[in-house]
Amino acid sequence: MNSSTSGRVAGLPWEWADCQCFVLGRTECCENGGDSSVAAVGLLPDFDGEAAGQFLTFVVPAPSGCNLKCSFCLIQQRREAVGDCLQPEDLVRFIREAAERSPIFALAIQGYEPLLPTSLPYTRAVLETGRSLGVPTTLVTNGVFLHEAVDLLNSLAPAKIAISLDSDSAAIHDRVRGVAGAWTATVAGIQRAVEVLAPRTKLAVSSVLLPSKRQHLEGMPAHLQEAGIEEWIVNPLLRCGPEKCNGPVGERRSLFQSLLGLKEAADRADIRLKVDDEFDRLGHRSACARQPELSSLEVRRLPLAIDLFRLGPTGRCSVGQEIMKPVTPDVPQWQPNAINAGVFLKTLSRDAEPHHKPNSHPSSAAERQFHA
Ligand code: SF4
Repeated sequence: MNSSTSGRVAGLPWEWADCQCFVLGRTECCENGGDSSVAAVGLLPDFDGEAAGQFLTFVVPAPSGCNLKCSFCLIQQRREAVGDCLQPEDLVRFIREAAERSPIFALAIQGYEPLLPTSLPYTRAVLETGRSLGVPTTLVTNGVFLHEAVDLLNSLAPAKIAISLDSDSAAIHDRVRGVAGAWTATVAGIQRAVEVLAPRTKLAVSSVLLPSKRQHLEGMPAHLQEAGIEEWIVNPLLRCGPEKCNGPVGERRSLFQSLLGLKEAADRADIRLKVDDEFDRLGHRSACARQPELSSLEVRRLPLAIDLFRLGPTGRCSVGQEIMKPVTPDVPQWQPNAINAGVFLKTLSRDAEPHHKPNSHPSSAAERQFHA
């Protein structure tokens, strides 16, 4: 079996792929099977009611990999960046050809790290093309290079930036992200971004909620209030892999209790907490039926009329919930000189599964009914 079909990466079970045991130790970080979080929905520009159209997301090339070493890195686990990379001008072409096919709701850069010096030409290509087409652009960054990139971002005017910060404690954040000094650089970047980019660019902080590690995040609301950030996106760790049933890592009941506790802390600091669950893997609505107080949580899913695409550095492109699965040779690859991107995306879209197929709780009758 090869790595893509066996669910194993570098000899490790898929669940443990890329867990940086030197950082936290397997039992501390990932005792329930570490995995990844995705947050495309958090990168959608604000929308009222219905949103529709193509949502093109990108993992831009980083020839030397990311500067951080997060145990839950989806890009690493999907093996998304293995192979020859597209060029910045290819991304421009991809976006323009896609726009000729049908309206683009937004463009988002989801990784590796878009503000790495080697990735900036790609980031600039995406943001400039969006601006010239009048399409909102967003990105998520680990923030380490944000301080230096603020002036460039000010000229490119993205609609939203989400900055990853996993604790108000430098020691915890640096352990989770695997690099000493990351917290200090990111916090400095946030401060400068608030001063220069807000409010034209909406700034949010995004945190990964590791199983049984609510305490890592409890000080975040007060920290964000002091930093001048109003929106806090919390991403519970999700399982990703070749199987369809990839719900949260850890037990749902304790996850929701953790989220409720964090929501109370956020309310006290006047911070808006949003939980991202783009493919309805948490089963929030069915949990509300059993535990009505959970309805106070703002859990955001991908709107049904949004077509989500994720173009990787090599041109392999995933659609909808396929973004939670490994990138294998079977994943369609867009080749700039071989096929028009609009035609390519149309074919992908036609073959895709619906976003919210009820597969996170396949045994839950209540949820099946809800989705029917
Ligand atoms: S910062 Fe993002 S891209 Fe970099 S290792 Fe961490 S999760 Fe992966």
